[in-house]
Amino acid sequence: MSAQKTYSIRCPQCNHTQNAELYESINVAQQPELKKALFENRLNRVVCEACKASFRLDKPLLYHDPDRNILIHWMPDNAVSRDEILDEFDKSMEELRAALPEGMEPPRVRLVFDRVELVELIFIIEAGMDERVVEYIKYTVHAQNPSRLPPAKKQLLLNVQDSTADDLLFAIRDLETAELEDILRYPREAYRGVQKMYRDNPSEFEELFPGPYINARTTLLAEEVEDSEGEDTQ
Ligand SMILES: [Zn+2]
Repeated sequence: MSAQKTYSIRCPQCNHTQNAELYESINVAQQPELKKALFENRLNRVVCEACKASFRLDKPLLYHDPDRNILIHWMPDNAVSRDEILDEFDKSMEELRAALPEGMEPPRVRLVFDRVELVELIFIIEAGMDERVVEYIKYTVHAQNPSRLPPAKKQLLLNVQDSTADDLLFAIRDLETAELEDILRYPREAYRGVQKMYRDNPSEFEELFPGPYINARTTLLAEEVEDSEGEDTQ
């Protein structure tokens, strides 16, 4: 079931306060129109009663697709740190596991921090691709192009819809401006090679991306920190 909650919100334009019903969870099998609203950036969007400004409110959202047995938590990191979110997340996962009826297969659970990541992940899953394989490709592309694609500044987003039979299309997004500034093509044949590597040796990929947040940039940035700490102690 989808669930809503009432929030008292303040308009960022004119400071008018009003109540708004925002979605806390959406079940896209029961209400596919909510998935459409999410894709079109209309979900949890409010129009101010006073000045008619339209703005989106980013609250934690649970995306549930029972047909694919997947739960994606979107936990916006605008209010609390990612470490706090991850702690909170571990706790709620334990509760979920404890609450599952015996013999029921637990859903695949993923975590994302912004809407763009959520939409990208939904497309990846619906295309029958594996997000660890996609992130592994991003990981190698960043690592091979450190000056053009520094992970601290640039984000790669797979564009499933515009990918072709021959090439996967990645958008390069500048994190500071949030603009999509270029595209990068990656041969599908190479994707299949990485997919085979994953199937032959999943533990290497799971070590690199243990989840629930599977993200090449985060893995690369953590490695950079480790490397610099290693240098300091020498
Ligand atoms: Zn207003």
